[in-house]
Amino acid sequence: MTFESLGISPALLKALADQNYTQPYPIQREAIPAILNKKDVLGIAQTGSGKTVAYVLPLLMNLQNIALSQNRYVNILVLVPTRELAMQVSEVFYKLGKDLPRRIKTMAVYGGVSINPQMMRMNGVNVLIATPGRLLELTESNAVHLSGIDTLVLDEADKMLNIGFQEEMNRIIALLPKKRQNLLFSATLNEDITAINQILLHNPLVIKIEPEKDYFDLIDQLGYFVSEERKGPLLRYIIKSQDLQQVLVFASSVYKADAIADKLRKNGIKATAIHSKKSQGARTEALSKFKSGDLRVLVATDLISRGIDIKFLPHVINYELPRSPKDYIHRIGRTGRAESPGQAISLISPEEQHHFRIIQKKMGKPITMINSEGINLKGF
Ligand code: AMP
Repeated sequence: MTFESLGISPALLKALADQNYTQPYPIQREAIPAILNKKDVLGIAQTGSGKTVAYVLPLLMNLQNIALSQNRYVNILVLVPTRELAMQVSEVFYKLGKDLPRRIKTMAVYGGVSINPQMMRMNGVNVLIATPGRLLELTESNAVHLSGIDTLVLDEADKMLNIGFQEEMNRIIALLPKKRQNLLFSATLNEDITAINQILLHNPLVIKIEPEKDYFDLIDQLGYFVSEERKGPLLRYIIKSQDLQQVLVFASSVYKADAIADKLRKNGIKATAIHSKKSQGARTEALSKFKSGDLRVLVATDLISRGIDIKFLPHVINYELPRSPKDYIHRIGRTGRAESPGQAISLISPEEQHHFRIIQKKMGKPITMINSEGINLKGF
């Protein structure tokens, strides 16, 4: 199957060719025709499956045929949980839409940066990608109106419908027109699908792309039994002795992420922490330096475990385990893309052993464990 046979227009075919996207991925094959037909869609697929392009392409096509919004009324609203994901999604809209006959104005808005420039640039925006809190601030000051929305997209939908965003989401949904297209995409979905159907979706096409059977086989998973005090030295030992050059380390708290990054720097390893307490400027810079290979280690909280697409990331290390098996899947899913296998290492303290067994059970796969007692960590 080709993009052409899905009805994609010549200008967009050219944009796809520029990106070297030769064939549609499975989620794209199923979602694109349905979205073009204005159907609601619930898409469940891993990050890396191409779900962003699956909705960006047909939405850009639809925008070529409808009355474009004027002034501060936007056509398409994409809600995302993090600022980083907002930027990533807006880049995809921009890259694919830049040569369309009809110019589409896309903008990403998120908190942590000054609101005034966002207010000023809002005029004539067709596609708005937003985190919920900042969107509400903008609607309250009449910088944007949501009553003309044609399509609502929830990326990382299970997170957006999670209790943490519930109040904000209810307020946003109350501002939308009743008649609209709804598209929900998520790598994992814990809520009962019928419950979500009732809240948001009307007779949707449900697409479930099972991760390829051997998806997790692309990721070499490994665990080290280690005491809490030896975790820092063991982390540095692993990075130095294996000469790892691009490593994403996950920590359980902001405080821990800062402490780990500090220690790495003191030991001559270029590292930065990324978490919710950092300024947006620092977050953006850290992520882009890490993506470009300028930064050897990025120490993150679960803030960036979802949705963030880092091409060919070879190593993920769980300094501490996440609370849920689902988050473990999100975290290790940052590595191991087709044709570029990755490695996911977890440092397991005695207190975490029971929890790790539960994760392995959920994954349906035992993970090779190494006892680190025999490793000489002197000097690390
Ligand atoms: P996503 O699941 O949206 O995070 O996308 C994962 C990655 O797949 C991104 O880096 C996209 O650039 C890439 N991608 C999406 N669709 C295609 C395609 N049809 N062919 C090749 N790469 C693609």
